Amino acid sequence: ESTIDKIAAGEVIERPSSVVKELVENAIDAGATAVTAEIKDGGISLIRITDNGEGIAKDQISTAFLRHATSKITKVEDLLSVSSLGFRGEALSSIAAVCQVEVITKTAGTLLGTRYRIEGGQEILTEEIGAPDGTTFLVNNIFYNTPARKKFLKSAMTEAGYISELMERMALSHPEIAFKFINNRQTRLHTSGNHNLKDIIYGIYGRDIAANLLPVKAEGAFGRLEGFVGKPVISRGNRNFENYFVNGRYVKSKIITKAIEDAYKTFMMQHKYPFTALHFTIPGDLLDVNVHPTKLELRFSNQEEIYQIVYDTVRQALSSREL
Ligand code: ADP
Ligand code: MG
Repeated sequence: ESTIDKIAAGEVIERPSSVVKELVENAIDAGATAVTAEIKDGGISLIRITDNGEGIAKDQISTAFLRHATSKITKVEDLLSVSSLGFRGEALSSIAAVCQVEVITKTAGTLLGTRYRIEGGQEILTEEIGAPDGTTFLVNNIFYNTPARKKFLKSAMTEAGYISELMERMALSHPEIAFKFINNRQTRLHTSGNHNLKDIIYGIYGRDIAANLLPVKAEGAFGRLEGFVGKPVISRGNRNFENYFVNGRYVKSKIITKAIEDAYKTFMMQHKYPFTALHFTIPGDLLDVNVHPTKLELRFSNQEEIYQIVYDTVRQALSSREL
């Protein structure tokens, strides 16, 4: 593996949760309706992501692991204007540069699938193998060839916690996909893919939260907003429960956060933060993004409108019920 590959890998792959994020996003892009993520030792020794998506054709696999030369700006624009979650071909090459990777994949039209192995960017094996339609990525021993980076990982428990949070956000952002998360052989999360956001909230946060939700819905020139906000009684001391998703992505937006919190102001004590799970569908040309591969801070070209819609919609949900 070349030094440049290892450096490039560092931008995308910071820790096991980055690997899981990239592979799960690829599974979503591949049209999977079921995605399972299994880890051991916080993902440090093993990450296995299985999907039932379109698979990768045998003659495309080695290409998929090549690093593409696209400028970041192009990527960023594509990122939100197109429905794809992909970051233009950096993920697989980055993962393969710093991990031992095995892929088993099969497309629907073919009899046999392919097993492919790559370590430190070096292809090790390609063979035909019986497999179900879809793709399984097995990623072993992250940073096995960059011990200095491995040293910066946290405990297996902490790393597993990051992955768990990530999988929860994935499940919340895609109610139409059945997600499973298994940590050290124990199933930690299992959603049905039945489109029901409330079921997912129940599965993740439990009854106390799920029983105290107010539905939210708005539609207009800005796009669509749908989901749930928590009654003020389930407010928290931090923002960790303020979830919102734009076009199927977990994002951050100062405007949305402010609109939500302003709407709650007269209903809640200071330094308390609400529970929300809101899905926005917004035309890509109204979005701009100040981006780092691992964190998305969104901007809207129609800021005031978005603020007002979120504020009014949340406010209405809060005022129209007995709290
Ligand atoms: P990107 O997602 O930006 O295209 P990646 O490096 O993440 O770049 O993936 C490279 C390519 O490998 C994808 O464009 C896709 O064609 C293929 N691929 C990766 N993961 C999967 C998967 N789970 N199912 C089908 N194809 C996949
Ligand atoms: Mg990708």
